[in-house]
Amino acid sequence: MRRKIVAGNWKMNKNYDEAMDLVRDLAEMLNDDILGKTDVIIAPPAVLLPNIVEELWDVDYISVAAQNCHHEIAGAYTGEISTDMLASIEVDAVIVGHSERRHYFGETDAIIAKKIDRCFEDDLVPIYCCGETLEERKAGAHFEVVARQMTEALGHLSDEEMMEVVIAYEPVWAIGTGETATPEQAQEMHAHIREHLSVIFNADVADEVSILYGGSCKPSNAKELFAQPDVDGGLIGGASLVAEDFVAIVAALKS
Ligand code: PEP
Repeated sequence: MRRKIVAGNWKMNKNYDEAMDLVRDLAEMLNDDILGKTDVIIAPPAVLLPNIVEELWDVDYISVAAQNCHHEIAGAYTGEISTDMLASIEVDAVIVGHSERRHYFGETDAIIAKKIDRCFEDDLVPIYCCGETLEERKAGAHFEVVARQMTEALGHLSDEEMMEVVIAYEPVWAIGTGETATPEQAQEMHAHIREHLSVIFNADVADEVSILYGGSCKPSNAKELFAQPDVDGGLIGGASLVAEDFVAIVAALKS
C-alpha cells in the first residue's frame, strides 16, 4: 500500500513567531478524523527546523522536512546545510529538486541525484520534485521531459531505495501561478510517471511509490485532484501557509 501524503512547502515564509503559531495551530486542528491514514509533512525554512522539531516532539502525526540539502557530506560550502546536520536534529525528509531550486540556483538532475544519495546515507526520505515548464508543455515535450528528469535523478537507485522516494509532480506553470493542472492532466502525467518507474525499475516499484501533485493546489480543487487513481496526495506551497487551508487539503485526501 503506497503512502497517502500531504506535504506543505513553506518556502521563504514565516519568521519565528509566525512559524510557531502555524505549527501549533496545525497540531491542534489535525485529528484522526481529518487524517485517516494520511501522512502530513511540513517543510519550514531551515533556520526554524530545530524549533519546529522540538515543538512537534510529542506530535507523531506531523513529520518535518527540510526544503533542501547540499550534495556533499561536509566542507567548505558556505551557507549550505548537510544531510548529516538535518538528521542530527531529527528531521525526517528533504525536498530535493524543487523547480525554484532548479530555476534560481541552477540545480541539475545530476546534482539532485547526489542529494538523493546523501539523503539515503542519513536515513532521510527524499521528496523528489519534477515537472515541465510551460514552453515544454506547449511544445508537447512534457512527458519526455519528466521521463528524462526521472531517469537522470532516480535511475541509479536500487529498487529498495526507489520505494522509499516520494515523487512530487509539479508542473512549473502551475506553481504559485493560481493555474492548476486539471485532474485529467495530473492523472495522465502521474500515470506516465508510474509507467516510467516500471520501465526503469519494475511494476512492483511503480506500484509502491507515492506520487504527489503540486501546483496551486487549494481547498477548492484538492478533492478532485486527489480523486485521481495515481494521485497519492499533494505538495502544497501557498495554501500550506494558512492552517485552515492546509487542514482542509489534508481532509480532502481522506474523503
Ligand atoms: C510548490 O512550490 O511546491 C507549490 C506547489 O507551490 P504552490 O502550491 O504555491 O503552487
